[in-house]
Amino acid sequence: MSTVIYASPIFGPVHSRRLGVSLGINLMPADGKVCSFDCLYCECGLNARYPAHLKRPSRQEVAQALEERLKDMQANGPSPDVLTFAGNGEPTAHPDFAAIIDDVIALRNRYFPAAQVSVLSNATFITRPAVFDALLKVDNNILKLDTVNLGYIRLVNRPNGHYDLDALVQKMRDFNGHCIIQTLFMKGRSFDGQDVDNTSDDYVLPWLDVVCSIAPSKVMIYTIDRETPCPSLQKATHAELDRIAALVEARGIPCSVSY
Ligand code: SF4
Repeated sequence: MSTVIYASPIFGPVHSRRLGVSLGINLMPADGKVCSFDCLYCECGLNARYPAHLKRPSRQEVAQALEERLKDMQANGPSPDVLTFAGNGEPTAHPDFAAIIDDVIALRNRYFPAAQVSVLSNATFITRPAVFDALLKVDNNILKLDTVNLGYIRLVNRPNGHYDLDALVQKMRDFNGHCIIQTLFMKGRSFDGQDVDNTSDDYVLPWLDVVCSIAPSKVMIYTIDRETPCPSLQKATHAELDRIAALVEARGIPCSVSY
């Protein structure tokens, strides 16, 4: 199968389905994956198959590499719509995440003030005050919540440490609308043959109630787009995604769909 290990600390720009022309900021090592989840659908592959041996980029390395790339984009194009923290794992786990956010916002303001700063996060570190406060500063604080079913989270997202769903959902509420919930819907089977369909009302309706209690500015729903480490996963259909989006919008929350 093909997996994507991104360059570090800067990659792209890439044209993102959800974000437009996106310059990626990868706070993980360049040679592997580091994540507090180990999702069956992760495009970077499973954690155990891509262990990192190099260090994470330092705050200084991130700022220097980003400034060089932004200068080049200013001279040669294209202009980024968004600077996106993503890559081979969970960006908020970087020990200097908060300071790096400050640096990136300053560089954005200097070179491309119209560009947005987005963070794609699995939300596992939002109970850390420095991470929470840093995410308040970015334009798009995009937090993963694929379900509120703990069994499903353990089967599909596979957190590799302590995971307190109630505490994380409460912190999502504490953003007071300054967050976007991103949810991947899919079908198929796990490695050991368990059903991973989260498109039915058994999963969607409890998730929707929690999403409404969080009151995000937006919900982004999507499905798998590339080969996945677990080959028995399947895409959710257009009709299934459209149905879920309509349920979200009926509750007054804007919802985008990527098929
Ligand atoms: S949270 Fe994202 S990076 Fe981490 S395992 Fe899941 S899909 Fe991969």
